[in-house]
Amino acid sequence: MKTEVIVVAAGAGKRLNSKVPKALVLLKGKPLIAYSLKIFEAHPGIDGVVIVGTSGFLSQFIHLTRSFKKVRAVVSGGVRRSDSVKCGLKALAPDTDIVLVHDAARHFIDRAMIDRLMAALKKNRSAIVGVPVKCTVKRIERKSLVIKETPSRDLLWEAQTPQGFHKDILLKAHARKFKEEATDDAILVERMGGKVKMVMGSYRNIKITTPEDIILAKQLLAGKG
Ligand code: C5P
Repeated sequence: MKTEVIVVAAGAGKRLNSKVPKALVLLKGKPLIAYSLKIFEAHPGIDGVVIVGTSGFLSQFIHLTRSFKKVRAVVSGGVRRSDSVKCGLKALAPDTDIVLVHDAARHFIDRAMIDRLMAALKKNRSAIVGVPVKCTVKRIERKSLVIKETPSRDLLWEAQTPQGFHKDILLKAHARKFKEEATDDAILVERMGGKVKMVMGSYRNIKITTPEDIILAKQLLAGKG
């Protein structure tokens, strides 16, 4: 089964107060995206990688192809994350069977979680990595901020990436029109009534979003976490 990864890296990094796109922010001298590219490069089950980058910074993303031979294409992203995934879908090799979609902002992925995800994709058409939530989560009323519901914690998992799909189902999910933004790809399959299997990710697999996350990531890289 041919497997390709779309690494979405076209976010602006506004919440990070960064001048460069989040994926190009340096961590220990290396751009954030390089950490996950290294894991995909080394994984024997991954055949190719498509990077979806910010249009004004494409040359910097293309520069990465020198170090990562599996990167087959670098394309520009869109306004929303889902638009960027769509741009990546167009650049997949035609004979790809399985597609993993990964946020460049999650640079602490590891080989074992990709193995678990790929094993799940042998029995399921869609699967994602995630972790059981540690906190009590409340659903609130938007305007008043009054709590409406406290869902049972043992049924709540936090979605992470990579998320994996048999290509046909992902193409179908993205072809459907939707108004409400999709913050991940699984939600589009869920909205179609498709089954998505959850597999264990890792608590280290944080998404770099705000400046505090950079501090935490540096500590984890230094082995203090
Ligand atoms: O904004 P957020 O942190 O949720 O973005 C998740 C991932 O999606 C990031 O890796 C970001 O670069 C990517 N993204 C994108 N195109 C957008 C918005 C986000 O590729 N328009």
